[in-house]
Amino acid sequence: MINESSIQNLAVPSPSLTSIFPEVSVVIPIYNEVKSIPQLVEKIATPLRENQLNYEIICVDDGSQDGSTEILRDIALKRNDLKTIILRRNYGQTPAMAAGFKYAQGRIIVTLDGDLQNDPADIPKLIAKLNEGYDLVSGWRKNRQDNKLTRLLPSKIANWLIGRVTGVQLHDYGCSLKAYRAEVVADMNLYGELHRFLPALAYIEGAKITEIPVRHHPRQYGTSKYGLGRTFRVILDLLTVFFIKKFLTRPMHVFGLYGLISMLLGTGFGIYLTVIKLFYGESIGNRPLLILAVLLFLAGIQLLSFGVLAELVMRTYHESQKRPIYRIREIIGNNS
Ligand code: UDP
Ligand code: MG
Repeated sequence: MINESSIQNLAVPSPSLTSIFPEVSVVIPIYNEVKSIPQLVEKIATPLRENQLNYEIICVDDGSQDGSTEILRDIALKRNDLKTIILRRNYGQTPAMAAGFKYAQGRIIVTLDGDLQNDPADIPKLIAKLNEGYDLVSGWRKNRQDNKLTRLLPSKIANWLIGRVTGVQLHDYGCSLKAYRAEVVADMNLYGELHRFLPALAYIEGAKITEIPVRHHPRQYGTSKYGLGRTFRVILDLLTVFFIKKFLTRPMHVFGLYGLISMLLGTGFGIYLTVIKLFYGESIGNRPLLILAVLLFLAGIQLLSFGVLAELVMRTYHESQKRPIYRIREIIGNNS
């Protein structure tokens, strides 16, 4: 067994070693997919081998309780193209993917689901597209094989909404089959269900993004880990991405602007009321405008203070993130 700090050292390629690192890392989050796993690894390896790609497969076991862990452990010990990362408990798809990203050594990172719904035969197509000069190529399940009412409809609405809010128009954000240039993934911090917003987060960092149609199969084994409840989590995450996009670097410009407008309006009404009180002797104590003036002024001060605080928070956010969102128990296989 290897402890985490020595793995971290291994994960950082030194210049002289770069040539022995794989070109493509395939990252797969796995939660209770015991029946798919035996086929999965070989199905991924075959097209990559056929295309003479130097690859590694990284399976992240996300606290499975159905025996997936043991199978992954066994296969990883037998094959030298597979690394299994076993998380201590079930963290969710996004943390599982983040763990895989951290230990991926390839120049290109491909993600897909562990349930064989994505077709690994599409991976070379994604890589070819990426090599045309893109930073991220997303799969589009043009012919998606899932329940229409509970999955396809919410996903259509979500895709439209995400496109509007983030400015990246993709048909299918939810498709896990995607290829990334490693450096695009490296600096992104994933929380909640944010993996589906990777294109949006990458776009915020200036990545060039495109999509290509990919095949999709009905789930053969096991059950989906999600239901309608995911819709709400996705919407909340969308809000987060929206705010990240808007406030990431200059929150003061957003809060400050509204704060200033509010304060100026409040001050204007206040001056107006003072003038009619002092010069015309009218009583202003019972005028709603007085309340409005006071409210606008106070709201303005608050927004400005929010702006200052947000600036400080964003600085801390950028400069201090070293805490991973997962804890690894052990890593097996692939020469580690
Ligand atoms: N998954 C995971 N942790 C979880 C839930 C799901 O690692 O808590 C994995 C799961 O094993 C699969 C992928 O994420 O490989 C997508 O899950 P699923 O196929 O259930 O989602 P769907 O395709 O139905 O949207
Ligand atoms: Mg699936």
